Amino acid sequence: MGDFSNPFDLFESLFEGMDGRSRQSWDGAMNGEDEYYSLVLNFKEAVFGVEKEIEIRRLEKCGTCDGSGAKPGTKSSRCNTCGGQGRVATQTRTPLGIFQQSMTCSSCNGTGETRTPCSTCSGDGRVRKTKRISLKVPAGVDSGSRLRVRNEGNSGKRGGSPGDLFVVLEVIPDPVLKREDTNILYSCKVSYIDAILGTTIKVPTVDGMVDLKIPSGTQPGSTLVMAKKGVPLLNKKNMRGDQFVRVQVEIPKKLSSDERKLIEELSELSKGKTAAGMR
Ligand SMILES: [Zn+2]
Ligand SMILES: [Zn+2]
Repeated sequence: MGDFSNPFDLFESLFEGMDGRSRQSWDGAMNGEDEYYSLVLNFKEAVFGVEKEIEIRRLEKCGTCDGSGAKPGTKSSRCNTCGGQGRVATQTRTPLGIFQQSMTCSSCNGTGETRTPCSTCSGDGRVRKTKRISLKVPAGVDSGSRLRVRNEGNSGKRGGSPGDLFVVLEVIPDPVLKREDTNILYSCKVSYIDAILGTTIKVPTVDGMVDLKIPSGTQPGSTLVMAKKGVPLLNKKNMRGDQFVRVQVEIPKKLSSDERKLIEELSELSKGKTAAGMR
């Protein structure tokens, strides 16, 4: 037997295990289950937010029986299992002795009455229906983000409150712009001449093509920052991340004879410089 420093913990956990997690209350009302919907967004929709109409399937109050679960026009009779009490006594054997407990009657779900079930909903009081929901996806969401729409899940039973709708997002990656949280990573290629002399190139961003200045003397593998060209912060639309552009410098594998001549002249020039420097 285990040694419990605080026996009340054990009592509490026992009772929790029996009834604590149940969504059903004594009067038979049962809260509706949460509903999940998975929504695929393209890259820019996730970056800037989007309004979407989605169609979900969920349990709604049955119109035939108005949610009661009883066939209209029929009368209810007292439940035989619990004698109309809605509860039945059960015994639970535990290491600390036998507990007598009052549980919800499973025959009548605690209502104390049995009725002829409604033929539309088979007595559940709810039927599965399609519902269109307008959804406002905020800017800055990412794959795995969950949007919670309160009370748009499944209806409750016998007066229970409805569950929530959770929309789970999946974002299709962009072929060239890589997202890293609120920043965007991009890789560009410039010729060795442009890296030496400097130039301006066009770079794709989430805002479209934007000019990027490559300063003279840009080193291979260096990263240039395009400030505020990244993803808006979730719920802080005015703040944005940056785009980081990694510069790859291309060295030609073949040279024309003219190019070769010029490079050789450059080489001579730089040898002269080095020699002058060494003197
Ligand atoms: Zn019904
Ligand atoms: Zn009963």
